[in-house]
Amino acid sequence: MIKKPLIITFVVTFNYNMKKVLVLGSTGSIGNNTLNVIRNLPGQFKVTALTVNTRIDLLKPQIEEFNPEIVVVKEEKPAEELRKRLNGKIEVLSGIKGLCSVASGCEYDIFIGAMVGSAGLAPTIEAIKRGKRIALANKETLVVAGELVNELSKKYNAEILPVDSEHSAIFQCLAGENINQVEKIILTASGGPFLHNSKNDFLNATVEEALNHPNWKMGNKITIDSASMMNKGLEVIEAKWLFNIAQDKIDVVIHPQSIIHSMVQFWDGSIKAQLGLPDMKLPIQYALTYPERLQNNNLRTNLPLIGQLTFFEPDLDKFECLKIAYAALNTGGSAPCVLNAANEVAVDKFLKGTIKFSRIPYIINKSLEKIEHFNQPDLDIIFQCDKLTREFAAGLS
Ligand code: NDP
Ligand code: MG
Repeated sequence: MIKKPLIITFVVTFNYNMKKVLVLGSTGSIGNNTLNVIRNLPGQFKVTALTVNTRIDLLKPQIEEFNPEIVVVKEEKPAEELRKRLNGKIEVLSGIKGLCSVASGCEYDIFIGAMVGSAGLAPTIEAIKRGKRIALANKETLVVAGELVNELSKKYNAEILPVDSEHSAIFQCLAGENINQVEKIILTASGGPFLHNSKNDFLNATVEEALNHPNWKMGNKITIDSASMMNKGLEVIEAKWLFNIAQDKIDVVIHPQSIIHSMVQFWDGSIKAQLGLPDMKLPIQYALTYPERLQNNNLRTNLPLIGQLTFFEPDLDKFECLKIAYAALNTGGSAPCVLNAANEVAVDKFLKGTIKFSRIPYIINKSLEKIEHFNQPDLDIIFQCDKLTREFAAGLS
């Protein structure tokens, strides 16, 4: 028998249109989900930079898998430890300077803002100044400086796309619509773990109870914000700046199943909603691939299995944080920045067990009373208000 020559053909597929991605906060809940989306869409995205605060043990396998050109570890000690472990293989920067310099210098097309807190503001501004696509989960950036972020993104032609599930839903409902014909935006809220608890039980909640969110698995800070409903307050402010809409046109409705991610009501009375399972992979993917929708194998929503979708008015007497956030948005200027910084400090204290859950709104109210108000703060004033509020709130209990 004559043996046929063995011909092996190597098909090398390299997609020159691969989008380069910087993930700021890659070891968190949104960061990990972003890497899941990227992993599940092979050939579409190339990770060029990853950043974390301290958790180098979680970063190391990400470096091995995604092979970024550069990483940032915000805290110096773990950054030094990682440099030793990587032995010069890739560059490791540190500090807020490091975060800003990857945003301003590294090669990427899409900036994923998956860091938690207003510390995300400075690097996000660097990305905006380069006119990049900003896929923004880091809502605190818009809460503290929404007006300035919008001015800059207009000036530098940067596109800010929402990752937060509610805002992604609204963005999807608005596709092809005229924003001037919107009567109201209806943000849905799960109501968190204490929706059905008495006000007294709610005020005395433990850390463990507050971290036990019924629908979403998220980072600790946003999970506590969801329990107090400050998260929805921050989202009302986020919606105002993302969609340039008056605050009296932004409603909140409790929807415990978290299937409808939000709705838009138009001036003819029609309501559009976006539905899906509570899974951040979908809004992350949409922000990465917009205006395209790419096929995926994520779990599909089985409506008969879900059975019921229910809705309630939020109790603003019990969920005082939501009321305070609406008031801070109404005051405008530097008030949302103070609200946010005080809340970050208070949540941190609660998580460390040094204050009771009921003291969160107290610390925020005291800070709003104490810190000087500015009607039209520039970025320097915003950073100063953030710092002064943190110092003041640190002394409260
Ligand atoms: P996590 O706490 O899970 O992750 C935060 C990430 O940011 C981690 O990589 C962390 O690094 C890093 N980080 C934290 N603090 C700093 C800092 N000071 N400087 C630099 N890096 C820092 O948060 P989430 O992923 O839950 O949330 C991220 C953002 O997305 C928040 O603004 C949140 O409100 C928003 N969001 C989250 C949703 C969710 O489902 N989780 C849904 C909608 C919005 P390290 O691991 O080293 O600590
Ligand atoms: Mg949300």
